[in-house]
Amino acid sequence: MSARTAEVVICGAGIAGIAAAYHLAVRRGVSGVVLVDERPPLSLTSDKSTECYRNWWPGPGDDMVALMNRSIDLLEELARESGNVFRLNRRGYLFATADPAQVPLFVERAREAAVRGVGPARVHTRESSDYRPAPADGFEDRPTGVDVITDPALVRRQFPHLADDTLAVLHARRCGWFSGQQLGMYLLERAREKGARLIEGRVERIDTGGGRVRAVRVSARGEDVTLATGRFVNAAGPFFGKVGRLLGLDLPVFCERHAKVAFNDVLGAMPRSAPMTIWTDPIRLPWADDEREALAASPDHRRLVEEFPGGVHGRPEGGGDSPVVLLIWTYDIEPVEPTFPLEFDAAYGEICLRGMSRMIPKLGAYLPRLPRVVVDGGYYTKTRENRLLAGPLPIEGAYVLGALSGYGLMSSNGAADLLADHVTGRALPAYAPAFQLARYNDPAYRALLEQWGDSGQL
Ligand SMILES: Cc1cc2nc3c(=O)[nH]c(=O)nc-3n(C[C@H](O)[C@H](O)[C@H](O)COP(=O)(O)OP(=O)(O)OC[C@H]3O[C@@H](n4cnc5c(N)ncnc54)[C@H](O)[C@@H]3O)c2cc1C
Repeated sequence: MSARTAEVVICGAGIAGIAAAYHLAVRRGVSGVVLVDERPPLSLTSDKSTECYRNWWPGPGDDMVALMNRSIDLLEELARESGNVFRLNRRGYLFATADPAQVPLFVERAREAAVRGVGPARVHTRESSDYRPAPADGFEDRPTGVDVITDPALVRRQFPHLADDTLAVLHARRCGWFSGQQLGMYLLERAREKGARLIEGRVERIDTGGGRVRAVRVSARGEDVTLATGRFVNAAGPFFGKVGRLLGLDLPVFCERHAKVAFNDVLGAMPRSAPMTIWTDPIRLPWADDEREALAASPDHRRLVEEFPGGVHGRPEGGGDSPVVLLIWTYDIEPVEPTFPLEFDAAYGEICLRGMSRMIPKLGAYLPRLPRVVVDGGYYTKTRENRLLAGPLPIEGAYVLGALSGYGLMSSNGAADLLADHVTGRALPAYAPAFQLARYNDPAYRALLEQWGDSGQL
């Protein structure tokens, strides 16, 4: 393979492109894999993530859970072989509610999830029940499935930091977090050892002829380079749609802005060993009476005294003495054109902290004098039903690996493994059709889209 030819050219060295390079070069033995990115690897969206993973996904069907279970199997394999350089844990996702109507729904959702392959549902109705909390570190020999605790006394004993009126929790177990940067660098190094190359430059054009990919033109340091290749993978993250247009295709994706907040929890309001913790109920932000009155009287700020949707969530970040807590709340999402640098609502940090104090009252101690918060984020690139795209395009030799939304770190290995099966012509897993672009050609699928329920976005 010469410097100007490639077996496969991958546009984008975010977690998607890097995982694709790894699965092609290392696990499928494809030589001549070239990654092209105009930015440093993992620097656009893949370093903005909360870095969590879960096999807790809604239907319809069990495809999403199957893909995610495969992805987590691969993460665990990689953690084992690397001495867990990316610090994979399995603390779980803990959903909490103070709404009596939610309690039976927690039980119902856990039972439905078991049918989709999430793992067994265990319901704990008494304080003496044998619920096993998750250790802070490691991932081996831990339960899968879901524990639902419906006894408030057991909830208080296990999670004393939650609001006193918490009635039930749902603890999804094959979930946790890891360092996305460490994972990405590990995959990139392994791929490079097997001959994958990284070129710094922008993919400007894709030459096709006779209905198939012929070459990729890259502008690199002012010089135009043409890479002769028969295969091209679009893994361009928020520019997935734009790169699709280089092939004359209008890919069905859009972008939403999402941000996370980091602050130093010097008071230790959130235990350092806590799982990812999510409040499922709608919230009215806590304000002093005079603040509430002033906000309600201001058309620009009235929103802050109205009800916010459920879903505020957060987790402790970092080992050792780290006091950092991450918060995230998806309450305001509009499709937008991706532009950089991103700007976020100046009040986002305060809104998250106030919202989170409903679930973890000790956080309320920060409200009179807000701590310094760092807000950063990026775009979720999504399909309308929030299912990623991994597979071939209608032009021979062209593939997609994108629309990884808010779950790209956790799904990247499963999705790249699937893509690599497509590229190398291997037998495909049963869930493959659910992630192909061609699914939109199926009238039954289009009908399903019209009544699609929960998209699984937190
Ligand atoms: C606030 C936030 C929280 C999140 N939390 C989680 C989480 O907890 N768990 C999880 O799994 N996921 C999470 N995500 C989602 C995850 O970060 C993304 O799904 C993932 O990073 C997307 O990876 P990507 O490789 O598709 O895109 P990117 O990382 O954006 O990479 C795309 C790359 O393509 C390059 N590129 C684009 N066009 C061109 C071109 N023409 N030529 C050359 N290069 C090009 C770009 O420079 C970029 O480097 C979160 C995201 C955000 C914003």
